[in-house]
Amino acid sequence: MRRWGLILLFPFILSVPACAPQPAVLELTVAPEPSTALEPTPTQDTSLSSTPDVTPTPDAMASARKRMVEKQMRARDINDERVLAAMESVPRHEFVLPDMLDQAYNDHPLPIGYGQTISQPYIVALMTQMLGLDAGDTVLEIGTGSGYQAAVLAELTDQVYTIEIIPELAERARATLDRLGYDYVVSKQADGYWGWEEYAPFDAIIVTAAPDHIPQPLLRQLVDGGQMVIPVGPPGGYQSLWIITREGDEFTTFNWGGVRFVPLTRAEE
Ligand code: SAH
Repeated sequence: MRRWGLILLFPFILSVPACAPQPAVLELTVAPEPSTALEPTPTQDTSLSSTPDVTPTPDAMASARKRMVEKQMRARDINDERVLAAMESVPRHEFVLPDMLDQAYNDHPLPIGYGQTISQPYIVALMTQMLGLDAGDTVLEIGTGSGYQAAVLAELTDQVYTIEIIPELAERARATLDRLGYDYVVSKQADGYWGWEEYAPFDAIIVTAAPDHIPQPLLRQLVDGGQMVIPVGPPGGYQSLWIITREGDEFTTFNWGGVRFVPLTRAEE
């Protein structure tokens, strides 16, 4: 597992400290309002949008994907070759709604129904890179959504577990993952706040919806030396993206800066 700088040490944190250091890289592109209008960002790649009447061909999609990796990732701070290769091989257009096909490789999130979004490609790459996964590592994702992030993780390790709270999305993501050969990804519909005890502990945990505090059950399900990447902050506002590393019963935290995610919702008890 890759280690990030030791910043703060304290046992079983209940909330993230406000005084944490600022991120080394401030290039984080923030996502627009999660479920509302998704205005194109100035840097978006509109090359496919210019031919809306033509069904995008596999070749067009492959070159759009290549451009996405070069312009949105390599040109920024994504330098892990395994992550870049994963981003280039997962067909993101298979995870978006049919009427958004021509925007699949653009530099912004897209709605996937039920008020949820598939994250901006750069954020998917960044969070994946932060996890520092090795082949064979076990990784738990909270917030399956479209299944895209899970597929990217599945390019790096064959031990991927993912939880989605909205039944329709959980079902659709399962079907997409199976259709594309990611049948080894293990998924379920549940409230991911509680993690997945049955398969714990995990080498890495990635949370793709934002809670207003760090769920203790997830901390407990990390292996010693394991990492969790999680946006934490108020629903509807900006959150901080944290990377948390377990060291025995202590956790080090590092704040990467501002991001915007849909809220982590809770199942009724
Ligand atoms: N990773 C997804 C995008 C995440 S959007 C992708 O690649 O497409 C965030 C997702 O988290 C949404 O689908 C939302 O329904 C889900 N979610 C919100 N609260 C949750 C919870 N408590 N447990 C599991 N999933 C949750």
